[in-house]
Amino acid sequence: MKVGFVGLGQMGSAMAANLIKAGHEVTVWNRSPDKTAALAEQGATMAQRPVDAAQGDVVMTMLADDRAVEAVVFGDGGIGQGSALHIGHSTISVALADRLAGSSGPGGYVSAPVFGRPPAAAAGKLFVVAAGESAAIDRGEPLFTAIGQRLFRVGDRPASANLVKLSGNFMIMAAVEAMAEAMTLAEKGGVDRRTLLEVLTGTLFNAPIHQTYGEILVEDRFRPAGFTAPLGLKDMTLADAAATAYGAPMPLLGIVRDHLRSVIATEGEDIDWAGVALAVRRGASV
Ligand code: NAP
Repeated sequence: MKVGFVGLGQMGSAMAANLIKAGHEVTVWNRSPDKTAALAEQGATMAQRPVDAAQGDVVMTMLADDRAVEAVVFGDGGIGQGSALHIGHSTISVALADRLAGSSGPGGYVSAPVFGRPPAAAAGKLFVVAAGESAAIDRGEPLFTAIGQRLFRVGDRPASANLVKLSGNFMIMAAVEAMAEAMTLAEKGGVDRRTLLEVLTGTLFNAPIHQTYGEILVEDRFRPAGFTAPLGLKDMTLADAAATAYGAPMPLLGIVRDHLRSVIATEGEDIDWAGVALAVRRGASV
């Protein structure tokens, strides 16, 4: 297929590389043009403007946040002026997904946020959560196969996929917060984190989240960040906006959001979102 890929950060560059490997004809655009060079060497064409990447069958976007997506879609030379089906992988607000669906060009719009960190993106093992017209999702399926291990279809309204993604990220953060609190308690009582994690993942808490983030917490692997705390804070803020819109109280969300704010203030913006553990430990003087 002729595919445009816009947004070549940690996730997007790996996803675009897998599309090239799968034999698709890929045109890339990124705000900072230096990030296109590695993909050009792998066979991608470099676009001058986002709209130049939106003239084929599909244009995929993987951008930081709502502001970035708005700039790239609705700005000068934006992909909104193109003819391709827009598949949005970024974690954005429910409100912006509704706006994208309502103002999409002739190609249509599908929201398809993903679960999985950069190593999963590099391995083509993301979980893709898609919502939109089912014929449009069908058109995107060969591309989802190239970037992911499984596709979930969650409805006709694109924003439903974003709501699922934000709910999932909230649950990840809540699990990390719970593990960080339990590890801090154990450590203060003389049991090391590794021992606690081995028991928990070997018994009742052996989900991928406990395994992946448990190791990060045990080894203090907070830099380089696979997913930065500011992006995590962005997602908790978007989840909070959805909770306000739908009238769903989420008291736990307030705790993890404030711990993210705290760790960004004390550690800087380059820390992984699992760095909330540092805020928990600081509170206990560990
Ligand atoms: P990243 O490495 O920070 O990349 C962000 C991308 O957005 C870059 O291409 C950046 O361009 C672009 N961008 C930022 N602001 C922009 C603007 N105003 N106009 C145009 N482009 C702009 O982030 P990432 O980790 O790849 O994450 C991308 C998206 O995937 C986010 O929505 C994130 O929440 C989601 N996500 C991340 C993970 C993860 O583990 N990392 C997992 C699942 C989903 P420049 O290169 O010019 O800065």
